[in-house]
Amino acid sequence: AKSMGKGRFEIFHKDFHNLAVNAMEMESSLRKALEEKSFPVWFQPIVDMQTGRVAGCEALVRWQQADGTMISPADFIPMAEETGLIVPLGKLVLEKAIAAATTWPCTRQTPYLAVNVSAPQFEEPDFADMVADCLTTNGFPAKRLHIEITESLLFSRSERAMATLQRLQRLGISIAIDDFGTGYANLAYLRDFSLQQIKIDKSFVAGLPDQPECMEIVRSVMELSSCMGFSVVAEGIETEAQKKILQDFSCSLGQGYLFSRPLPEQKLLSYFR
Ligand code: C2E
Ligand code: CA
Ligand code: CA
Ligand code: CA
Repeated sequence: AKSMGKGRFEIFHKDFHNLAVNAMEMESSLRKALEEKSFPVWFQPIVDMQTGRVAGCEALVRWQQADGTMISPADFIPMAEETGLIVPLGKLVLEKAIAAATTWPCTRQTPYLAVNVSAPQFEEPDFADMVADCLTTNGFPAKRLHIEITESLLFSRSERAMATLQRLQRLGISIAIDDFGTGYANLAYLRDFSLQQIKIDKSFVAGLPDQPECMEIVRSVMELSSCMGFSVVAEGIETEAQKKILQDFSCSLGQGYLFSRPLPEQKLLSYFR
């Protein structure tokens, strides 16, 4: 450690200082953006691969900058989670997404709406009430709402999260496990929850059909799901070859650039037509 010398430490120290300053700047611009509600919600279709019909749409938030450019949620959701700003931000996304989905053209099977919810949001004591209020305000049927949570939230088994989970499901809302397969090797915990859907993480889909481990994981997830009665969405489908393999594995729902990128509301409406 001595050989690293004093100079090295100072460089590290300076970088660290810059990081901290940037984090503070980012937090205050996030706050400001929340007041101005400059968070458009985009939608990515989830497709029934057999029929090509849009089965559902996932709401994906963007951060719109003054010059019109969009920042990806991957770059600000972690900061929003750390600062607690995810709670008002998540509420804004849910309200916007439900309001938009209420206007989608009515068909025999109008697409469902999937909304991402972070652990700190889900742990808020009044989260389920907030969701219920939002459904009532818009006259949006609970059956058409999916809430996407991550494995780690279930794994923690916090009392509050478990109560919220039950409450949402009693309302008729479906719970989907996002990024499935990335968190835990032991899947036994799934037995303890009655879930409606799992979403196979795109890192596994990306390895189809060439990587035997990915083939094996997808095959076993499909087997597990048919035993346990979950529906399955494969995420991140980019090629016809991936689509074909997934269909061979009896996976019927797919999401990815092969079908559509996330779209602003107006473009989504043209995609429906
Ligand atoms: P996610 O929930 O796993 O969402 C899917 C991400 O994969 C989206 O990135 C989507 O644009 C991207 N994607 C879709 N199809 C493809 C494909 O074929 N190839 C590749 N390479 N990527 C594809 P996005 O929109 O940048 O969102 C990133 C993450 O940010 C989301 O991952 C989700 O975890 C989080 N996020 C987005 N919106 C919200 C939100 O409203 N609330 C919360 N808590 N998190 C959100
Ligand atoms: Ca998601
Ligand atoms: Ca995902
Ligand atoms: Ca994710």
